Amino acid sequence: MFPGLVKRVAELQGDMKYYSTKNRNIRAGLEDAVKNGMAPDKGLYMPEKFPVLSRYELERIKKSESLTETGMILARKLFMDDLDNESIEKIITCALVFDTPVVKITDRILALELFHGPTLAFKDVGARFMAQILKHFNRQIEQPIHVLVATSGDTGSAVANGFLDMEGIKVHVLYPSGQVSELQEKQFTTLGKNITALEVDGTFDDCQTLVKQAFADDEIRSKMMLTSANSINLARLLPQSFYYFRAWSQTDAEQLVVSVPSGNYGNLTAGLLAREMGLPVNMFLAASNANDVVPEYLATSVYTPRSSVKTIANAMDVGAPSNFERILNIFDQKHERVSRHIKGYSFSDREIREIISTAYRTHGYILDPHGATGYEAARQFLESNPQSTVVFLETAHPSKFPETVNGLTDGTPEVPDRLKDFITGKKESIPISRKYRAFREYLKSSRHV
Ligand SMILES: *Cc1c(COP(=O)(O)O)cnc(C)c1O
Repeated sequence: MFPGLVKRVAELQGDMKYYSTKNRNIRAGLEDAVKNGMAPDKGLYMPEKFPVLSRYELERIKKSESLTETGMILARKLFMDDLDNESIEKIITCALVFDTPVVKITDRILALELFHGPTLAFKDVGARFMAQILKHFNRQIEQPIHVLVATSGDTGSAVANGFLDMEGIKVHVLYPSGQVSELQEKQFTTLGKNITALEVDGTFDDCQTLVKQAFADDEIRSKMMLTSANSINLARLLPQSFYYFRAWSQTDAEQLVVSVPSGNYGNLTAGLLAREMGLPVNMFLAASNANDVVPEYLATSVYTPRSSVKTIANAMDVGAPSNFERILNIFDQKHERVSRHIKGYSFSDREIREIISTAYRTHGYILDPHGATGYEAARQFLESNPQSTVVFLETAHPSKFPETVNGLTDGTPEVPDRLKDFITGKKESIPISRKYRAFREYLKSSRHV
């Protein structure tokens, strides 16, 4: 009745809102932000205020003994305005069913292993959390929710597996034909049920563009409830901040440097959010493959998004990272501030191979091609900052990339059983052109679950 007043009261009470990176006055609550994925002005949602952890909460986190426990403390803090304790507990215990252990490679370099989830990549964390929170918000199942996800490899499998068998939710995975490894492809094309794989005749950026076009298509959106499960979605982004705290709770270091293998920069953005909440990090290292738009920006202050090039660390083959907008937003668009907190590194395929082989020979640790960039950025950073402790994110299990890893290490990494199960499945996908018209027709025809 008095919308202005209601809004004002909500502000006074400090209800958590999320604003659009394009316009701070466009705000939404958690449920709308998660369901819509993107703000109506095509900006990305950001938390309006970061709940800063008290000393006591930080101490509890430092003492926590699993990702579930760490996640519970942080989720209560982040979502207390939108979810009751019981719901938070249910979401966290269903989503975070594995730990993220820290493994010591040298005295100064630690690996945060994020691959202990069902699809062996860090994306399991965000994808599973998103599936659970969407399930919570869609309790009444008024109309089916269609989850669109563009993938360069690991997102598709994490999202598909996180949502598999969920009633009232249909997942459409778009992936670039011929550009994901056979194993990755198997992880989202063999599931069936509420999961459909669309094999796009184009690049990952084309897939991402198709998803964006669907969101900008008012007619489609008036007919079906669409949401995006890409890292632009808050429900994927926010829980990724949890394992940064979990890393810290497993080290003795007061301050950390964190090295993040990066593509779309969701992971690194989540690290920045963790820092805003009070995690003691003094530097982030943005480790990239040959797709080096962000390292280039950090070094030159010029940002030139472009088409991605194909590399052996293919989950990072992104030429126009969508979360870059969020990073700029956190630092008020000021290059000087961004580059004070993030240092960029880029490695060619040849270098990545070299890194995997050297790390194996020197430390007996098998890196995957993505984690390899994070490890090497850490190693190079330590050359000029020998007193630091660097945690690098090992974002996927090396056995997901046998074509690269096996020849560079004498052993082959052991293939976990959950990966073996996918290998025997039969691939099913729908080939589709990169033109929006075709995708639009497909969407229309799949309106009713
Ligand atoms: C997705 C992915 C990345 C890149 O993460 P972003 O959040 O997109 O920067 C790195 N490594 C692996 C294994 C991935 O699957």
